[in-house]
Amino acid sequence: MEESAQSGEKPRLLLHVCCGPCAAGVLPAVTPFFDVTLFYYDPNILPKAEFIKRLDTLKQLLAHFPDVKLIVPEQDEEEFLSAVTGLETLPEGGARCEVCFAVRLKKTAEYLASSDGKYDGFATTLTVSPRKNAVLINRIGEEAAKEYGVTYFTSDFKKNDGWLTSVRLSREYGLYRQHYCGCGFPVPYDAEQS
Ligand code: SF4
Repeated sequence: MEESAQSGEKPRLLLHVCCGPCAAGVLPAVTPFFDVTLFYYDPNILPKAEFIKRLDTLKQLLAHFPDVKLIVPEQDEEEFLSAVTGLETLPEGGARCEVCFAVRLKKTAEYLASSDGKYDGFATTLTVSPRKNAVLINRIGEEAAKEYGVTYFTSDFKKNDGWLTSVRLSREYGLYRQHYCGCGFPVPYDAEQS
């Protein structure tokens, strides 16, 4: 990840965040260099109870990073479900995930573009996961940035022991670590659970 220079103060980073454990692997790397605001936009996390559980875990983590701010924008699972219609049965890592990354990063870029210069750029914690393709995520982030005329900071947070840090701090702070990515597909999502 490259830092944008601003004399005398830290660059202001809008960091899309997928969950507390991934944030635990990223915040130690970025907070020394950036003024960080987390953007928890993840309508792909189903059911709603799971979305709230992960949000609570994120807040639990932030007790250890008191300078980091958190934004939770309005969101609805339909924003994700309508985007991935027809892709539900594909395995994790395929075309559905590509759309899912785009939904989340476009919203982050859109928010940044409308924020009257409050942030210098955005990035995402998604690249900390060894199960996710950082090259693909960065390409989607760059495209979203171009579409909205903002700056995207490329990253591969799994490098420099980012994932190990996630695991270690999650254990140390007693964070809930989920056992599935977010949507639960290709097992059909049961709206009755939400
Ligand atoms: S498996 Fe994860 S990245 Fe892929 S579509 Fe579902 S929530 Fe999104």
